[in-house]
Amino acid sequence: MNNFSYSRATSVQNAVQRASTDKNAMFIAGGTNLVDRLKVFLDEPSQLIDVSRLEMKQLEPLASGGLRIGSLVTNTALADAPEVRRNYPMLARAILSGASQQIRNVATVGGNILQRTRCPYYYDTAFPCNKREPDSGCPALTGINRTHALLGASDQCVAVHPSDMCVALAALDAVVEVTGPKGKRQIPFGDFHRLPGNTPERDTNLEPEELITAILLPPLPFAKSGVYLKLRDRASYAFALISVAAAVDLAEEQIKDVRLAIGGVAHKPWRSQEAEQFLIGKAANAATFEEAAKIALQSAKPLAHNRFKVELAKRAIKRSLMLSAAGGVV
Ligand code: SF4
Repeated sequence: MNNFSYSRATSVQNAVQRASTDKNAMFIAGGTNLVDRLKVFLDEPSQLIDVSRLEMKQLEPLASGGLRIGSLVTNTALADAPEVRRNYPMLARAILSGASQQIRNVATVGGNILQRTRCPYYYDTAFPCNKREPDSGCPALTGINRTHALLGASDQCVAVHPSDMCVALAALDAVVEVTGPKGKRQIPFGDFHRLPGNTPERDTNLEPEELITAILLPPLPFAKSGVYLKLRDRASYAFALISVAAAVDLAEEQIKDVRLAIGGVAHKPWRSQEAEQFLIGKAANAATFEEAAKIALQSAKPLAHNRFKVELAKRAIKRSLMLSAAGGVV
């Protein structure tokens, strides 16, 4: 491990100012992914700026009726919040399906959306990896790729985004509020994470000196019947092979509106707007949901070992939409 300095930021402005004068500085809060990466030399910062004591731990109602989630709210606090369980149950379920209670107690919302892929080749420095070192190669393309991407990948990287929470945030049209040297800006959730393209080393459109200060959730009344379904190799403490966040708004058995996002399939949480558009105005039944699932996966490009995930994703989508149309489960 390289030597680095550690200090606590005294304010958001102080944190941003320090990061903007040192391009090798990194922010740390819960550290549940960053410390793992430091231990295996994936990140070698010159300094860690601890932001964990800043005033970003509040859940506050928005004037619009939505919710402002401070970026230091822990995963546990967010999943337990009555307004989240009541109004955004898919978010509570997504959080509780991830990691362990101990990790959720310290992991923060801001850190969750910045966590990096769990592609085993990325963490094993005996292998090359374009995400770790641009233009070094991607062994997952021809190696073991059972858990890798179906959608939106490139010949540079086929990794998937690991977060459960982010799949729900994508479905809920969240907005990421960040502060940088030029002040605050808001990034729609769909624009926050990137597809790998030719720059797999970049996971997000966040600039290095920008600090995530909050996540904004707009009101979405029909999210009360939203569901989060996660399919994985073992029942707990495992990343998703496939996950689905879905919410269906019905009027007289017809679909008025719908949200559909898929996890475990791409370098970012995958919002399926084609499937959503297909569903609006259709009768809410098994055949409709099956067709929507086909549409959501129509551009899938499976690798040698992950073809089974195409069918798994279709079945998970159909089941999630049916569960939500039936009132959802929490
Ligand atoms: Fe690295 Fe991405 Fe290839 Fe994994 S899939 S080895 S993260 S370049």
